[in-house]
Amino acid sequence: MKQFSKVYPLSSSYSLVMPNNYIIGSDTDDEGEIRQKITAARAELERMTQEIQRQAPVYRVHEGGLAGVKSHFANFGFNKFARSAKPFFTENSCNSCGLCVQNCPAHAITLQDGKPVWAAQCYQCLRCINECPQQAIQYGKSTAGRRRYTIRGYLPQDEQ
Ligand code: SF4
Ligand code: SF4
Repeated sequence: MKQFSKVYPLSSSYSLVMPNNYIIGSDTDDEGEIRQKITAARAELERMTQEIQRQAPVYRVHEGGLAGVKSHFANFGFNKFARSAKPFFTENSCNSCGLCVQNCPAHAITLQDGKPVWAAQCYQCLRCINECPQQAIQYGKSTAGRRRYTIRGYLPQDEQ
């Protein structure tokens, strides 16, 4: 956010910890951890809202270790070598519902002969994998046997 602020000056910056959905890297959090993170995120959002309403300048970003290295070298390496759509495939349980096509924020999925095909502009947000109702999408060998996470199951009915 500090780098971004050099280009587009920001009054405030925040980060918000949410449950893990990057199941290419590791399995989802367990049930207890998911609920704990969502509860903490709600409290943090409430705090942010109050700070923004009173226009308080705040920098509350969890940068983690080696932030500069991650923002430059790791980010470059990820985009260049790891952010590939090629490993996506569907299992036979795909029923051609088309939800993954509708959900993709990068418009990277089309149905061909009723089956999803991924294009290179994928952001690797993993919404398609996590929200497929059939759990039919896999990414190479990384995601087999791993759970899927979407926040929908953890929201009250009136927030869905
Ligand atoms: S959301 Fe799942 S079941 Fe539906 S088309 Fe996509 S991969 Fe197939
Ligand atoms: S990972 Fe995200 S951006 Fe990539 S194809 Fe799936 S939904 Fe689209």
